[in-house]
Amino acid sequence: MTVRTRIAPSPTGDPHVGTAYIALFNLCFARQHGGEFILRIEDTDQLRSTTEFEQAIFDSLRWLGLDWAEGPDVGGEYGPYRQSERGDIYRQYAEQLVEVGHAFYCYRTPVELNELRETRRAEGDFTALKPSDLLLSDEEIAKRQAAGMTSVIRMKVPEENGPCLVDDMLRGTIELDWGQVDAQVLLKSDGMPTYHLANVVDDHLMNITHVIRGEEWINSAPKHQLLYQYFGWDMPQLCHLPLLRNPDKSKLSKRKNPTTIMYYERMGFLPEALLNYLGRMGWSMSNGREQFTLDDMMADFDIQRVSLGGPIFDIEKLSWLNGLWIRDCSTEVLAEKIHQWAFNRETLLSVLPHTQPRMETLTDFTPLAAFLLSGMLPLERDKYDQLKLEGDQLKSVLQFSLWKLEALREWGRDQILNTCKSLADSMEIKLKDFLAPLFVAISGTTVSFSVIDAMVLLGPDMSRARLRYALTGLYGEMGKKQLKKLEKAYRSL
Ligand code: GLU
Repeated sequence: MTVRTRIAPSPTGDPHVGTAYIALFNLCFARQHGGEFILRIEDTDQLRSTTEFEQAIFDSLRWLGLDWAEGPDVGGEYGPYRQSERGDIYRQYAEQLVEVGHAFYCYRTPVELNELRETRRAEGDFTALKPSDLLLSDEEIAKRQAAGMTSVIRMKVPEENGPCLVDDMLRGTIELDWGQVDAQVLLKSDGMPTYHLANVVDDHLMNITHVIRGEEWINSAPKHQLLYQYFGWDMPQLCHLPLLRNPDKSKLSKRKNPTTIMYYERMGFLPEALLNYLGRMGWSMSNGREQFTLDDMMADFDIQRVSLGGPIFDIEKLSWLNGLWIRDCSTEVLAEKIHQWAFNRETLLSVLPHTQPRMETLTDFTPLAAFLLSGMLPLERDKYDQLKLEGDQLKSVLQFSLWKLEALREWGRDQILNTCKSLADSMEIKLKDFLAPLFVAISGTTVSFSVIDAMVLLGPDMSRARLRYALTGLYGEMGKKQLKKLEKAYRSL
């Protein structure tokens, strides 16, 4: 048996360091066993998936040096590797389950489902919705069919509470409760599969032998195990890795730490160092060495050495490690890396149109462009004090802009400008005053070229990170109450 592992990201946002961490462990496990590591794109959420995010997944995993043997961009014998291109396959398997009685068409409306859930909650019942709860008489079904109402396909699950045992490579046998497992939708009314169906069908058809994924999927394991049984397929071995955490032990989230892979590239981390650091998340080399290459890790890999205590993703530690990697480079290699990173013709050509009109001598270039090549800018409170906006209004402008820019899908000049304009309008603030704090947060000054152009050049990750940095620098970590208040005001705009 050839070991086959996979990473199966959904292209619904900027690729996360957590995805790289899971990919790394899958790759090492496969290589250690002379097996293969593949990439599958789980884009069944048609509303949120984009080709840009998919491309960003390819680019950022490749930048790190995590190569896959099969995938949407490189092909392979088990393709297509993009779930949106496999619709017929899932439909066929869902219908097969209905035919043999392991799944059923459900005509319940969203309103009814809500009512059912509400009633239960009111009765203090937190168990899941079971097939019997959703049952409709044949007559009622016929009526709804005749009225052209749509249906979904749901899987049957045990009606009674009771233990469901799932084996995990790291955790041994885990006990979960059937009471929490609902009659999961497998095929939505638009004919698209849910994650659970597509994931199980694909892992089987793609001959995946080991599913190594984040621990947030443990609760899905009973459904998956049951689906494998229904289909009569061997189940891959499951391994749930611990989630990455912020230094305060909370789940790694962009509110507290930058989480996108490309942010780290932009910040000038070396891919070797980031990969090395991710390799140390819950795992260590048998000789205890802190600095190691991907090859070192693959040669020494043993998944049983993963420790389950939540690994802390600490940027200070990462910076320290990156420093080791930088100092290990020969001058020649470092020069090449810096050249590739930003000191190249392409970058110059994109920056110069903005700085040239403000230059008298060539020496003017460096100070004008310095903020584009920097990491986080030192927080200078007095620069904010000199602005027209102050107090709550200043805070709202920074926070609301951040939220708006986080939701922006296309990072172009027009999109950013329109976002800022409409936000300024709805907050009834003059555009000039509105942009001033953004200027300080993004460029460190108000006497530079357009902050919109600066954001385009800096890219979404660094721009958002600077806004976040300014917010926490000025106001500290916001409490839940404060955030709620801001969210309310934001929603009412
Ligand atoms: N599409 C899922 C994700 O985005 C994959 C989870 C799994 O590996 O099964 O994480």
